[in-house]
Amino acid sequence: MIQDVYRKQLDAILFSVNQYSDDVLNSWIAKVESGWIEKVPGHTPKKIKNLLTFNSSLVAVFISDPPYGAANGAVFSLTDSSKEHISAINETLSSGAENIRQLVEYKKDGFQKLQSLPYRDSANNDLRCLAFVVGDQPSQFSIAGLLVDPNIFIQEVVGPRLQIIAKDQFILSVFKKGSPASIYSTLARNGDTLKAEAHTKDLWLLPDFTIGIRANGTSIQSLVDKRTTTNLILLLSLDAVLIVAVILVFRNVKHEVQLAQNKADFVSNVSHEIRTPLALISMFAETLEMGRVGSEEKKQEYYSIITKETHRLSGIVNKILSFSQIDANKKNLVFRIVDINAEVNGILKTYDFHLRSKGFGYTFIPGGEVSVQADDEAFAEAVINLIDNAMKYSPDKKFIEITSGIENEYGYVAVKDHGIGISKMDQKHIFDKFFRVSSGDLAKSLGTGLGLSLVKQLTEAQHGHVTVSSAPGKGSVFTLYFLLKKTES
Ligand code: ADP
Repeated sequence: MIQDVYRKQLDAILFSVNQYSDDVLNSWIAKVESGWIEKVPGHTPKKIKNLLTFNSSLVAVFISDPPYGAANGAVFSLTDSSKEHISAINETLSSGAENIRQLVEYKKDGFQKLQSLPYRDSANNDLRCLAFVVGDQPSQFSIAGLLVDPNIFIQEVVGPRLQIIAKDQFILSVFKKGSPASIYSTLARNGDTLKAEAHTKDLWLLPDFTIGIRANGTSIQSLVDKRTTTNLILLLSLDAVLIVAVILVFRNVKHEVQLAQNKADFVSNVSHEIRTPLALISMFAETLEMGRVGSEEKKQEYYSIITKETHRLSGIVNKILSFSQIDANKKNLVFRIVDINAEVNGILKTYDFHLRSKGFGYTFIPGGEVSVQADDEAFAEAVINLIDNAMKYSPDKKFIEITSGIENEYGYVAVKDHGIGISKMDQKHIFDKFFRVSSGDLAKSLGTGLGLSLVKQLTEAQHGHVTVSSAPGKGSVFTLYFLLKKTES
């Protein structure tokens, strides 16, 4: 379709060139006619003289005496050779007698037509005789003609017009039939050759010549190819963007669904976690209240159960509160220089009884002096959460190793257990809020899914980070990193 539209456009351009040549010659005819009316015997009319002077492609103008023959007619030329034309003119007119008769018929009907006839002058130059009829009444009709040198006409009249049309977009060239090299071309260097893709049309009044047109530089096929490639690239990149967008949306939706699921699990987990100590507390408190417990020893046991369960309850509530504070960015941290080793020793001292009562052994191997910039309470909360998890997820080998040290610009504390470990798959999610590993024996153990999310948020709020290294059945190491204390410069 593009090819078709393109060809029609080229046709229209070539048509306009022909139309233009026609207009120029018609304006010449008008000048000859008006010049002839003002003729003075023995003189070249002024208008015809001007016409010859300003148009070097016009070799001569002739006007025959009525009726139609050229013999004894006037031949106007700027050179003295006007007489030499007479026999050649007669020859042309007699060989084109049939065409001349038609011209006269047209003129009688009121149409001014122009007939192009071959003309060879005495010096054997191939010119063109453009014959037409002058006069108002058929009895006064004369045959007139413009003897035109086609080569000069193409150079001086058609050429400039072709330049205007061509601009940078097209190459327009004129060829003499039977010869592949152009006699005129809008191409800077002359001698354009007729290319296969060129579109051509004959010049109406100079039928020995052809004009060719083609796009400058590129052919229509290469233009179409280029456009096709651009469109294809655009389409592919659009597809790629679409695919990426779909993947992103899909991932987001999946994440949201997972979060909603985790939240629902969280509510049931928390209710469960709270209900168990509450049930124990109320049961033992009622038993004591009713005075059914006989021995003092039993009473003491019940009191300690109530205290333990109360601690557990407040532990859960504190964890939830702390989480909601840090999640809403409302936790105020006070940065100090924290000596990790001293802090860990303090925590272990407080936790010693708790750990031992659950059958846990532990070691702490400090790695030299490690002072970091941190909030000591937030630091302790994070470490305690790690120790809690280590205990919760170590059903068999109850041993915890804590180490500290310096790595790059960070001070670290690592909590290692020999518990159930975490699969690579679950490691990606354990720091997400509400996430709990849903498989394995300990999956049913109590928990809120907030602990590690809290650890991560607490550590990051202190400009640090947390890492995990774990394998199922082999235990886990959680490491907290904090920025080292700035050395004074
Ligand atoms: P919770 O312990 O309340 O379930 P956490 O956020 O503390 O929530 O932990 C998320 C999940 O990570 C836990 O459900 C557990 O499966 C896993 N996990 C955490 N710490 C350990 C550990 N030390 N060993 C094995 N699994 C762990």
